[in-house]
Amino acid sequence: MIEPDYVFTCPYCSTGMSVRLDVSGGKRQSFIYDCETCCSPIEIQVEFNGAEVVSFTAHSHS
Ligand SMILES: [Zn+2]
Repeated sequence: MIEPDYVFTCPYCSTGMSVRLDVSGGKRQSFIYDCETCCSPIEIQVEFNGAEVVSFTAHSHS
């Protein structure tokens, strides 16, 4: 099973980072990822087509 690292930008501090995605977790996933730089909670929504990421959004959690 491929577990791609997906690169995105923090919506709070604009720092680029990558997150390890688990394609076995379902076609549509949403989770909170704490920014490694500013420690703010980033709400991530990801959608897969097989092992391919077809939609990825990272926005501030409110
Ligand atoms: Zn940040």
